[in-house]
Amino acid sequence: MREMRYISTRGGIAPLSFKETVLTGLAEDGGLILPERIPVLSAEEKKALRDLPYQDLAFKVFQYFVTDIPEEDLQRLVNKAYATFTHPDITPVVKKGPVWILELFHGPTLAFKDVALQFLGHLFEYLLSERGEKMNILGATSGDTGSAAIYGVRGKKNLAIFILHPHGRVSPVQALQMTTVTDPNVFNLAIKGTFDDCQAIVKLLFSDLEFKHRYRLGAVNSINWARVLAQVVYYLFAYFRVTEVEGIEEVRFSVPTGNFGDIFAGYVARRMLSGGIERLVLATNENDILTRFVNHGDYSLREVVPTISPSMDIQVASNFERYLYYLYGENPIRVREAMSRFAEEKRLVFSEEELSRVRADFLSLSVSQEETLRTIREFYEETSYILDPHTAVGVRAGLAFRDERPMICLATAHPAKFPEAVSRALGFEPPIPEPLQGLSEKPRKVVLLPADPQVVRRFIEENAI
Ligand SMILES: *Cc1c(COP(=O)(O)O)cnc(C)c1O
Repeated sequence: MREMRYISTRGGIAPLSFKETVLTGLAEDGGLILPERIPVLSAEEKKALRDLPYQDLAFKVFQYFVTDIPEEDLQRLVNKAYATFTHPDITPVVKKGPVWILELFHGPTLAFKDVALQFLGHLFEYLLSERGEKMNILGATSGDTGSAAIYGVRGKKNLAIFILHPHGRVSPVQALQMTTVTDPNVFNLAIKGTFDDCQAIVKLLFSDLEFKHRYRLGAVNSINWARVLAQVVYYLFAYFRVTEVEGIEEVRFSVPTGNFGDIFAGYVARRMLSGGIERLVLATNENDILTRFVNHGDYSLREVVPTISPSMDIQVASNFERYLYYLYGENPIRVREAMSRFAEEKRLVFSEEELSRVRADFLSLSVSQEETLRTIREFYEETSYILDPHTAVGVRAGLAFRDERPMICLATAHPAKFPEAVSRALGFEPPIPEPLQGLSEKPRKVVLLPADPQVVRRFIEENAI
């Protein structure tokens, strides 16, 4: 394999290896890290990948981007990462009514973030033991990311994790998922305050560089390239499966989007296939900045509205800068200009020429909460299949843009994680799958702390590894 180096979207860093990229997270010039090139698969390569089981496909895809970890080690990391999934296909794709559903919720926390975070946990453990270092991961969560990160890190050597959540303000299922993890290296901090308070505390602690370095604080946020990379695999997996069954060489994917992470992975897969994915459907809830971007060239910030698909209640999509880099012809100077303009004016506008290129990549629809509930209801009536509210946003948009090509809708969470929304739509709660059963009887590990950065700092000092 040709060596792969990594660059910043803002052009201000010396090229990095994959390992450095994983441990760096955000580039030092404030940009996001990208591979210096996205490989395009030849017809022979596609043929060789087409029938592989998920883990083998993941290993082969990673090999293009990970040229500084020995093959046997990479293979072992992949196998360990996906051993926790309960479906033999890891991310099975099933035909339901007029669309295909790509089920990404068979990991330990029943949401798609497991696909990336199960891999990232093993990768971190491997890289830290190689360097003889330790890391304390610190983060704030309003739900999904926190539990997926905790399950990625639990029981790993040289790693501990401190996750802050707003006490009494995350859904009961999500609170239980987090606090019933009792491993010695996992610390759940329930903060007497809001999610914004939690985030402000985390930000403040990271900005104290002395503290950050002394306790080797790390993050697992969605800008880490390894997370994007892990997600590229299931697009290729679903593409190969569905085109095989349908006998059609071109598909569309519909992706419920928040931070632009998942759909950016789709964009990478689309470039690798060069032709197999006609367009990606970018589905948003009422927080529609990305839909306004695709449909009107208007990327302007508005207030975040809370919805029944909370993991998509985002306005500034942290991975968007990666797409801008390609839209601006891989020119880091233009990315830098745009990002500083956006920081000042809270908006970006695009030319007709740029917009026509955006629309060659994406179709987009914003779906209201009412339409989301109606989609859950109608889809159930037609197919007996229960959608979670995030998936329903994607399915609604997928149905709107369906043509003769197969439409593959990403199912990003199991419906049992969002029983309130499902019950509003259907009048009953979804059946509880095995991993969520009996959670409320399990022992818990959580400390209740005031929304005071000094108290949280002291807790970390006393418990960091
Ligand atoms: C995080 C999340 C999303 C949004 O994913 P992005 O990568 O932020 O676009 C969608 N659905 C669920 C269930 C999620 O947890």
